[in-house]
Amino acid sequence: MATTDRPATESGFRASARLKELMAGHFTGVDRAAREKSAPVAWCTSVGPVELLRALGYQVFFPENHGALLGASRVAGEVMGRAHALGYSPDICSYLTSDIGAYLAGKTPLSRFGLSAAPRPDLLLYSTNQCREVRDWFEFYGREWNLPVVGVTSFRDLGEVEDSHVDAITRQLEALIPALEAVAGRRLDAAALELAVDRSRTCSDLWRQCLDASASRPAPLSFFDATIQMGPAVVLRGTAEACDYYRLLAAELAERVAAGRGALPRERFRLYWDGMPIWGRLRDLASLFAGLETSVVASTYCNSWVFDALDPRHPLRSMARASLELFIARAEGPKQRYLERMSRQFQVDGLVFHDARTCPNNSNVRFGLAQRLRRTSGVPVLVLDGDLNDLRCFSDEQARTNVEAFVEQLEGSAPAAARGGRP
Ligand code: SF4
Repeated sequence: MATTDRPATESGFRASARLKELMAGHFTGVDRAAREKSAPVAWCTSVGPVELLRALGYQVFFPENHGALLGASRVAGEVMGRAHALGYSPDICSYLTSDIGAYLAGKTPLSRFGLSAAPRPDLLLYSTNQCREVRDWFEFYGREWNLPVVGVTSFRDLGEVEDSHVDAITRQLEALIPALEAVAGRRLDAAALELAVDRSRTCSDLWRQCLDASASRPAPLSFFDATIQMGPAVVLRGTAEACDYYRLLAAELAERVAAGRGALPRERFRLYWDGMPIWGRLRDLASLFAGLETSVVASTYCNSWVFDALDPRHPLRSMARASLELFIARAEGPKQRYLERMSRQFQVDGLVFHDARTCPNNSNVRFGLAQRLRRTSGVPVLVLDGDLNDLRCFSDEQARTNVEAFVEQLEGSAPAAARGGRP
């Protein structure tokens, strides 16, 4: 999971000027800290326990974000082979193989921010709440640079999130603190952790508010816009800057809603996107759907950085719960209920499932979920084969044919409101 700041599809937001500054400041800030040793630097997984790092004064870099940039810039295709040659299979996470391949090839799309490589960390912190791949990914660098790799081994495929699960993850978070303190050279301050959790929660609430704006008709923010706009929610979670950014964006979206201005000039159909973005085809897919006057109004992916459970009064415990309640960490039952609720909230006419070849963790059509949703909600479903970064798994021609046929099918279907969507 991750995001890119590449403005490939962004549809004219005033706030985007600030977004570009923020993302550039993030990359150059982490790089400076790594080069000048002015602050400890950590790498963190995208939905990992970043608040602990913020509270300890770390500058934080997110390799999944780098993976997405490699995909969007299409450098991924040039470098993945380097990781495959080391024994990392072409069938595993193409963020991992892109990132390790880029390191081995000495390439990075961060060069446009003046960086010659991803900033080298002092410590790597993972959580396997999203997948095991992130641990293997970080352990490569731990071996390469002889650095500490610490993390949380989480539960996966949870039905109900029970207190016993939260207890276990809370204990693992507590156990991480001495290692994080040792590298930071300071003790964890309780007030600093509460502040970081408070800021993460505020960021999460504001980001949700932005995404929820697209429950309006027409939707002011498309999935393709949101993959760009989500940058601060990923790489600056737990900071005041991220909160300020989403106040700005939320106000702009509210203006668009009041003015009836949508992401597309005309919105005939509304779709939901489940699964990873196809980073190297973001612009093409945005144009394809726009040409069909079809707005992709919501997604599981962009909602992955909404953490409702975070509570500064109970920082560690609420971080544990928030990490377990994530969609990606849940069983098929909660996933189905979530998608049914989102389909109603956003009044969608259809669901698109991206079956990403190298990310089974974020591909939700492999255990019959799409068929069950068709039956329970009556919403038409399209499955697109592809991948987040490995474009050898994606056929432009087949995707175009399938999307066009799907929209044609929608022309003959009952509208969302008739299936119980909001009027
Ligand atoms: S396997 Fe999937 S969830 Fe894990 S890092 Fe890769 S893309 Fe993200």
